[in-house]
Amino acid sequence: MLHYIDVILPIPIPKLFTYSITEAEVGFLKPGMRVSVPFGKAKIYTALVFNVHTNEPHAYEAKEIHQILDDKPVITQTQLEYWQWIAEYYMCNLGDVMRAALPSAFILESETIITIDREGSFKESDLKDEEFLIFEALQHESSLKIHDIMSILDKKNVLPVIKSLLEKKVISVDEEIFEKYKPKLVRYVKLQSRFSTNQGLQDLLEELSRAPKQREVIMTLFSLSAQTKKPIKVSELTEKSNTSSAIIKSLLDKNVLEEYYIQTDRIEYLGEENNPIKQLSEAQNIAFHEIKSSFETHNITLLHGVTSSGKTEIYVKLIEEVLAQNKQVLYLLPEIALTTQLVNRLQDYFGEKVAVYHSKYSSQERVEVWNQVLNKSTKAQIVLGARSSVLLPFRDLGLVIVDEEHESSYKQFDPAPRYHARDSAIVLGHLFNCKTLLGSATPSVESFYNTKIKKYALVELNTRYNNVLMPDIELVDIKDKQKRKRMTGHFSDRLIDEMTETLKAGHQVILFQNRRGFSPIVECRTCGVSPQCPNCDVSLTYHQYKDQLRCHYCGYHAVMIKACEACGSLDLDNKGFGTQQVEEEVKELFPDYKVARMDMDTTRGKYGYEKLITALEQQEIDVLVGTQMLTKGLDFRHVKLVGIMNADNMLNFPDFRAHERSFQLMVQVSGRAGRTEERGKVLIQTYNPYHKILQQVASNSYLEMYEEQMDERRNFKYPPIYRLIKITLKHRNYNKVNVAADWYAKSLRLVFKSHVLGPEFPPVSRIRNQFIKHIIVKIPPKQSVSKTKEAMIKINNSFFAVKDFRAVRVILNVDNY
Ligand code: ADP
Ligand code: ZN
Ligand code: ZN
Repeated sequence: MLHYIDVILPIPIPKLFTYSITEAEVGFLKPGMRVSVPFGKAKIYTALVFNVHTNEPHAYEAKEIHQILDDKPVITQTQLEYWQWIAEYYMCNLGDVMRAALPSAFILESETIITIDREGSFKESDLKDEEFLIFEALQHESSLKIHDIMSILDKKNVLPVIKSLLEKKVISVDEEIFEKYKPKLVRYVKLQSRFSTNQGLQDLLEELSRAPKQREVIMTLFSLSAQTKKPIKVSELTEKSNTSSAIIKSLLDKNVLEEYYIQTDRIEYLGEENNPIKQLSEAQNIAFHEIKSSFETHNITLLHGVTSSGKTEIYVKLIEEVLAQNKQVLYLLPEIALTTQLVNRLQDYFGEKVAVYHSKYSSQERVEVWNQVLNKSTKAQIVLGARSSVLLPFRDLGLVIVDEEHESSYKQFDPAPRYHARDSAIVLGHLFNCKTLLGSATPSVESFYNTKIKKYALVELNTRYNNVLMPDIELVDIKDKQKRKRMTGHFSDRLIDEMTETLKAGHQVILFQNRRGFSPIVECRTCGVSPQCPNCDVSLTYHQYKDQLRCHYCGYHAVMIKACEACGSLDLDNKGFGTQQVEEEVKELFPDYKVARMDMDTTRGKYGYEKLITALEQQEIDVLVGTQMLTKGLDFRHVKLVGIMNADNMLNFPDFRAHERSFQLMVQVSGRAGRTEERGKVLIQTYNPYHKILQQVASNSYLEMYEEQMDERRNFKYPPIYRLIKITLKHRNYNKVNVAADWYAKSLRLVFKSHVLGPEFPPVSRIRNQFIKHIIVKIPPKQSVSKTKEAMIKINNSFFAVKDFRAVRVILNVDNY
């Protein structure tokens, strides 16, 4: 009998592909193993065995596989099931999921670029002949492709050699196409080695006898080093010796101290005694027990705990229990930047059991964690990771935690699979029959809605740890200030006063200016009102080309207004001001203090982001001006005042979630103020202090915000009541996109009637020479989501059957918000 395997290829094709295998291979091959296969005219791919069978394919003659690459599966049966769910739900191909899931070192193919592994260390004598030939070739060429290697070795089956070279850390693959991950650097100090002897230290202390402050620092450093074997942070030394950064600097300048940096999330765990887990406060303890009992009736629980209420310590308690049952834990965070603050905290408790995983790690590092998780090693029993860690080969998952569950960065926008990591994590939990805990100070409307309809359980934690008061939030009416000439640039007199006081007292200030994104909304400079779409409850965007205002959801348009429709003022703004301008104004207003800016421009360079965060933590910056980047769950000790420069441009953002997001953003930024003892202060400058969202932020009324947003979502048919799928069409030719999009929308309307919006150009309608058009399909509550998708796939297939449309790119995005 002839034998075949169906494989997943790491390319966007809708079907599995069938290859023939020999009698000997049948007994050996199992689903989840990799094989190298020929494809098309001259391509080679790493493919993944999906199943083994005896059904000959009808449409083509099955080719033979080249080689088996694994002796046991590298992905599990549960993963194969999970991938199928992702592909189906997010309307993409299994190959897309495979590519997103597997570290690039696992997917060797003709396009793979092979380079020398600069960090690897190996003995040349350990290399086999063929391996050595490739190693030698790489001494002359900076990179090789698979086809080069085939000609060097004069044979086809080269993937096993490459695999072995990867394992020996001789070569690495594909790294340059990834944006390099920027690890967080923390500044440490130690004594120069010549002072490490008793005599040396004695001499030094004598030498410093006339500089008592410096002497104090050295004494403190000495006693700190005696207490712990760990490296000493500059910030820790500054705090414990009660000194200033100037004194430390002079000791560095004198070459008494030496500074060095360590990447905090790659610190090798030193294997010291684990620290005991913190005793929970009474409020935390109640929440902890509520979560546990909620798990008896629900699989998913939402922990709604205000900023700094100590949610992390509750997670730690839950993790401890799961570890005791010898199960694995997945702990999701929205941003890589956040993992670095947390990883130390968790390693303190759980030591080497904690592993970090995200797409910006090198392929080798990811392979390491992958294998540990696959082998259920204790080394990666707790995986702390961003989005892509839901795709790891878990064996025995006991708990999933999704922290900051409201964050929009959990959703992948490009490329496919366009999955939402929170929602996918919940499905993963189901597959393992384990519990999922979502946590946030500002839950997403959809998750909170799920607690209302009892799909999720809800646990609330309303007090901050240590009973620190919630920050005092004050709304400043800049319309009024403008009228009374109390504004200096973009600063109201109130903001200037509060800043002056805070800085004088030696505390830090954060100023937040929303990045307006690419949406040119029009705003009245006198009253702050933006023109709205009558159909969609979003701001209209300005299209300069036609001098029009347009709704990029439904296509409503009107000529650009000459005067504000609310107040009649002629002073209209369609550009807005940015962080750079705010920074310059601060420098002028407060020339004696250190100002820094955190936005896309200042964090682009190597370690830019980490350096700024560290500088702020170590109090080398007095005022930090920034965008959303600085809102995300960071824990700063000395920030006392937060200023929001202009709340209106957030509220006016042309998106149905603009109000929800503004609320979340403002509450989260406010949460950065006064996290330790003293109560923090927040000033929000706005044209419209009576805006309901601002009132809700000021009074910390999450529930009120939720109820009101839900009313709007019901009225305007938005999630979580309706679901959305967005279709994007792209092509270089303007007319082609138009015709194609019209055809597509018309076909959709035949089935879905009025629940189709568009086609419409987005505010930025041409990117890299491609014209873009959007169509949105709304799915009413009673309509089956899977039937809807089926119908859409049919339409999509007929679309591509039209010869003229074949070159148009179509992107389907499920839950595109
Ligand atoms: P959240 O995640 O809710 O914003 P965190 O878990 O970061 O809050 O806690 C805020 C601060 O309070 C942290 O510095 C944390 O170390 C401290 N903290 C929280 N719970 C405890 C506890 N039970 N004992 C000691 N310190 C705690
Ligand atoms: Zn106006
Ligand atoms: Zn509209």
